[in-house]
Amino acid sequence: EISFKDIGGMNDVLAQIRDLVERPFKKYELFLKLGIEPPKGILLYGPPGCGKTFVANSISGELAIPIIKVASTEIISGVSGESEGKLRNVFLAARQQSPCILFFDEVDAITPKRDSVHKEMEKRIVSQFLSCLDELEGQIIIIGATSRPDCIDSSLRRAGRFDNEIRLRIPNESERTSILHVLTQSLKLSDLISLSSLARRTPGFVGADLKALVRE
Ligand code: ATP
Repeated sequence: EISFKDIGGMNDVLAQIRDLVERPFKKYELFLKLGIEPPKGILLYGPPGCGKTFVANSISGELAIPIIKVASTEIISGVSGESEGKLRNVFLAARQQSPCILFFDEVDAITPKRDSVHKEMEKRIVSQFLSCLDELEGQIIIIGATSRPDCIDSSLRRAGRFDNEIRLRIPNESERTSILHVLTQSLKLSDLISLSSLARRTPGFVGADLKALVRE
C-alpha cells in the first residue's frame, strides 16, 4: 500500500535501496545469466522509530511483491526445538510465495552474538537461522531490522548472508521538513502552519515522533 513516494527525507537510503534491491530484483534473470549472485540479505539499522519497518513495507509496495513479516521475539519460544521449527516454517512459507520479501523485525532477538549467550538453545537458533539463509533459493529478499546492530552475531554479516547494510539516521532539519510534507499531504492545514518552522523546532525527532506530532 505504500511506496517510495511516501517516504520523506531519505534520498540517500532510497538510492542505496535502488542499487541493492530494486535493480537486482528487476534484472534478476540478467544477474543469473551473468553468473552473479544477486544480493540476498539486507540489514536495516537505526534508532527506534526512524522508519525501518516503513522502508521494508515501501520496498514491497514499490516492487509489487508480498512481504512476510516476522516479529523475531515470537520465534523465540521456551520449548526446546520449537523455535527452530518455527524458523524453518517461515523460510518454507517464503519459498512457496517467491518472489517475496521476508522481513525480520528486531532480528537481534533471533541472532544474538553466540559468545554472549549462555543457553545452548539460543546458539542452536542462530545456527538454524544461518543454515536457512544459506539454503535459501529463489527470488526472495531477506530484510532484517535492528536498532542494535552490534548485538548481532558477526557470522550473519558475512558475504551471502546479511552482506548489505543500510543505516537509517536521525533526520536533520531539511529531512524533517520533507517527512512533515509527506505526513501532511492528505491533510487540510491552516495557512498559519509552517512545516519548516516545525522542523526547526523538533531536533532529535524521528519519523515516528513527527507522525505523533502531526496527529496531535
Ligand atoms: P522500531 O525500531 O521501533 O520498530 P522503526 O524504525 O521500524 O521502529 P517504523 O515503525 O517504521 O519505525 O516508523 C514508525 C512510523 O513513522 C511509520 O509508520 C511512518 O508512518 C513514520 N515514518 C518514519 N520514518 C518516516 C519517513 N522517513 N517518512 C515518512 N514517515 C515516516
